[in-house]
Amino acid sequence: MSKKIPLISPDNCLGCGTCIALCPNNFSINDVGKAECINLDSINEEEVQNAIDSCPVVAISWKEEE
Ligand code: SF4
Repeated sequence: MSKKIPLISPDNCLGCGTCIALCPNNFSINDVGKAECINLDSINEEEVQNAIDSCPVVAISWKEEE
C-alpha cells in the first residue's frame, strides 16, 4: 500500500517557519535553517496540506511512497 509523505525542496525553502507553525508534528527546522519532515509514520494530512498551501515559495509537495 502506498502512503503520502511531504517532501521539502531545500533549495527553495527560506526557513521562514510557517510550515512548522502550522504543522509542528511533521515539520522542523534543521541545523542549516531549512525545514525538514519529521514523524513520517504519523502524518497529519490536513495540517500538512495547510502547510503546503501556505508555504510562500511552494517548497513542499506530496510524494507517494510505495
Ligand atoms: S513554509 Fe516553506 S519556506 Fe517556510 S520553512 Fe516551511 S518549507 Fe521552508
